[in-house]
Amino acid sequence: MHGGAPVVMVGTDQAEVERRLRCGALACPCGVGRLAPWGHARRRRVRGLGVLRPRRARCSACLVTHVLLAVSGLLRRADAAEVIGAALTLKASGLGHRPIAARLGRAGSTVRGWLRAFAGAAERVRAVFTGLLAELDPMPGPVPPAGSMFADAVAAVGAAAGAARRRLGVVGAVSAWQLASAVTAGRLLAPAGPAGWVNTSWLLGAGR
Ligand SMILES: [Zn+2]
Repeated sequence: MHGGAPVVMVGTDQAEVERRLRCGALACPCGVGRLAPWGHARRRRVRGLGVLRPRRARCSACLVTHVLLAVSGLLRRADAAEVIGAALTLKASGLGHRPIAARLGRAGSTVRGWLRAFAGAAERVRAVFTGLLAELDPMPGPVPPAGSMFADAVAAVGAAAGAARRRLGVVGAVSAWQLASAVTAGRLLAPAGPAGWVNTSWLLGAGR
């Protein structure tokens, strides 16, 4: 086998991946074996991160090789992904920017800025993440209409992140919004929206 399925290590850096790998602390997504060092995958350039040389590991039980990708760098670029995601989710459920800001302990103007940026990109966000969902899961089931373009876009992000988690065997605690932020290289709220930035090749192609 040339590569193997990528396993995304979220919230950890390369040194942490190495340490956990060497002490047998990483479980295989198969649920049975432990991962052990198995060389490296080829170097790849990840937009915004530079060149990475992901670690390859093999499962002691199913003998499948996996590529361990540390995405802490991507997540650091969007430290606020979690908070912004919470704001967008609250807005989708009908709350206005003032109560959202109060609940999250952020300035009202900051929250309003996030909501406006996402609203402006919502149609593209929905399209991009619906496409990503289909790419990750050929039979995802319907995402029910949420009542507005804004809420539909929030729902699409959640559905795609759920599919990514199932498909990629994400290791470590990661929220839908952290994953969405990583997938869009932190461009979720960019003025042009995530279109043209969503590049799953570093995820889906990590094993090649
Ligand atoms: Zn295994």
